[in-house]
Amino acid sequence: MPERAATVKRIFNLYASGGHTFKTLRDLLYEEGHTFRQSQKRFHRSALACILNNRFYIGELHRHGQVYAGRYERLIDQDIFDQCQNILHGRNRRTGNPEFPLAGGLITCAFCEQSMTGERIRRKRKSGGVREHIYYRCANNAPGTNHPTVRWKAHELEQAIVEDLARLSLPTPEMVAWFRLALEDSPADLLSHQRRRAATLAKRKSELVAMQDRLLNAYLAGTVDDDAFKAKTAELMADTARVTEQIDAQGDVDPARGKAVLAVFDWSQKAAKIWRGSNTAVRRQILDSICLNRQVSDVTLVTTKRKPFDFFAERLDLKKSRGDRTP
Ligand SMILES: [Zn+2]
Repeated sequence: MPERAATVKRIFNLYASGGHTFKTLRDLLYEEGHTFRQSQKRFHRSALACILNNRFYIGELHRHGQVYAGRYERLIDQDIFDQCQNILHGRNRRTGNPEFPLAGGLITCAFCEQSMTGERIRRKRKSGGVREHIYYRCANNAPGTNHPTVRWKAHELEQAIVEDLARLSLPTPEMVAWFRLALEDSPADLLSHQRRRAATLAKRKSELVAMQDRLLNAYLAGTVDDDAFKAKTAELMADTARVTEQIDAQGDVDPARGKAVLAVFDWSQKAAKIWRGSNTAVRRQILDSICLNRQVSDVTLVTTKRKPFDFFAERLDLKKSRGDRTP
């Protein structure tokens, strides 16, 4: 049925965009006039899951444990199918409902690690009108008795994120300048350190070769017996192999690395500001690129920073606490 094909295509395309849960997908399909069946117009989640997992749409026919490929027209592109599979299996985080930009896995509960979910609460005003509040709460519907209520007003959670990002930036322009200078120097430091180490290793290697020569001469001259020669040779060979390995592992210092670190540092200094002026998609990218995970308890937001942001954040904390101690 061509109509059916259009509906299936629409389901894959919408879901692949990453902007839908089964619920929002179901509602949108209904609004667009794609119905499940006459008696039940809206798609049930199991029907959606069944369609999104059906490899028949990418031209595979499974029969008796065998896969017959390529004999059927593909309704869905492999890329779109794979993208949907990634989302279904959580390999790709959904960008979620645009109404609740911080929901959909971006932030998780510190007590049970479930995603924070958004909710809209309407409250009647005394003056008559209705006021809507957006909250984020732990999505766990069966929290244990030790699980406190994890529920944040949207603007308070926003504020906590801005403060967390602001922790990356140094308090004064002088400190920023000093830190940049230190970063600019570090590749040069690294380079000279590596050169010294390379020279040490090369010297050690030539010493080992000379020792092997002397050992061989002593053996040929009859001043070292068979067993001692074999044992000593094995020892020297092992040492030489180890030093050679260390020389090979040294690698080169990439001067571009220094520039990249500086760029990241400069960006980190502005992260909170960029966040404030960005749309939802960019905000998600900012959080994803800076933090490995973000957890909220009933009172605090805790993030684990990625490298090198963890280093910046720790450095800054150190600075702060040092500053606090000075009278
Ligand atoms: Zn929870």
